[in-house]
Amino acid sequence: MAIGSEIERLIQLLAKLPGLGPRSARRAALALLKKRDTLLEPLSAALADAAGAIKTCEVCGNLDTASPCAICTDARRDPHLLCVVEDVADLWALERAAIFRGRYHVLGGALSALDGVTPERLNVGGLLARVKQGVDEVILAMNATVEGQTTAPYLMDVLGDIKVTRLAHGVPVGGELDYLDEGTLSAAFKARRAL
Ligand code: ZN
Repeated sequence: MAIGSEIERLIQLLAKLPGLGPRSARRAALALLKKRDTLLEPLSAALADAAGAIKTCEVCGNLDTASPCAICTDARRDPHLLCVVEDVADLWALERAAIFRGRYHVLGGALSALDGVTPERLNVGGLLARVKQGVDEVILAMNATVEGQTTAPYLMDVLGDIKVTRLAHGVPVGGELDYLDEGTLSAAFKARRAL
């Protein structure tokens, strides 16, 4: 029996999600179709809402319904502390750990000669512009990957004289922030060191 083309399309789209291959995409599609009222329709509505409402924050690169985002406009957060992350997932990880009360800057990736990611493809210009507006400390919260550890010294160079710190203990080599538990991330953040 051939699978209907709508279902095939659903499976193909699901298979593009990170962590899902064709096999898990088929299982996910089937789960959705079997739970039409409790899963498929609410998910479909949530996707449509997100597609219509979510924007990239023009200041920091976070994803939110407003631009500037809720973090950038939160007056209780210290605008003189700027934490640089590679991706929105890392920002979310730090927010889950609830250890940082400054603002963020999402680079949009990390330098990689292999993948052709040059400084021009990252939001470095935006970072320098924000630092000029009055920042006391830039915290580099890069992943402990080769790319992250290539990006940190590059940023230190272009940031010049400003105080720059980076995460220290607890971030395993090859580790991505998004995969760390909150305790480890919290310890690494507090033990950040000056560069
Ligand atoms: Zn923002």
